[in-house]
Amino acid sequence: MTRNLPTVRVRAPPADDALPTEPAQLPAPLDAELPPLPTLESFCDDATLNKHVVPGAHGYAFAVAKGNRFRVIDLHGEQIVDFMAWVHDKPFTRLEKMSTAYTRYHLSGVQPAIGECLWTNADRPILRVTADTVKVHDMTFMSCFPDLYKKMGLRGHRSCAQNIFEAMEDFGMKDILEIAEPFNIFQNTPNYSLKRLGSSKPGDYIEFEALQDVVCAVSSCPYDIDGVNGGVITDVGIVIAEKK
Ligand SMILES: [Zn+2]
Repeated sequence: MTRNLPTVRVRAPPADDALPTEPAQLPAPLDAELPPLPTLESFCDDATLNKHVVPGAHGYAFAVAKGNRFRVIDLHGEQIVDFMAWVHDKPFTRLEKMSTAYTRYHLSGVQPAIGECLWTNADRPILRVTADTVKVHDMTFMSCFPDLYKKMGLRGHRSCAQNIFEAMEDFGMKDILEIAEPFNIFQNTPNYSLKRLGSSKPGDYIEFEALQDVVCAVSSCPYDIDGVNGGVITDVGIVIAEKK
C-alpha cells in the first residue's frame, strides 16, 4: 500500500545501549487468582532479550508467548505510545482483544497498578503490569487518526491508527477500522484534560507479562501540535524477554 511520508519532526535513532536492561522494580503482592508474578531474574538473566527500536511517528507489531515479559520504553522522554493487544489464537482471528472498558471495570483506580491486569473483551486478563517507572497512562482517548489531521489541514500527517494498522497488516489486518481502543502509555491526561503532558523521562518504561499468547502493537504517537509529545516525536524501545 502507499504509505504517507511523515511530516513530523523526528530525532535520530539512539545508540544501541539506549535500551536499558536493568532489573525491574519489586512487584506488588501476588493476586491469588493469577499465577505468581515472575521473578526479576526471568526478565534479564534467564531470558533472551529481543530488542527493537520503533522509529518516531511509526508503529510496530510483535508476538509474545504466554509467560514472557516485555517492556515499552520511552527512550527520549515525553513520548506517548499507543498500545493495543490481541489474543494470538491459531488461526489468528483478532476477535479477542484488550478492552479499555473491561480493564477499567476491573481496576482499583484509573489505571493499572503494578500487579493489575489489562483485560479483554471476553473478560479475561491478557497482560499484567509487572513494573512501571511512570504510573501515568491513559485509557480514555482514542488513537489519533488520519482524518483528525486532515481536518487541521495536515493531509498526509502520520497517525497512531494508521501506524498500528500498517504494523498489523503483517498479522492479517485488512482495514484500519479493525484496530482497537488504545491503552495510551505515558499519556498524562487526567479527567480527559489535554493540558501539557510530559510525565515520562528518558529511559522510563512499563513492563508487562503476557497471560495469554498475544500479538501487541505500538505507535510512537505522531501528534506534534501544541507541545504534545514534547513537540518532537521520538523513538520507542521494545524489549521482549523470551524465556530460554
Ligand atoms: Zn497518536
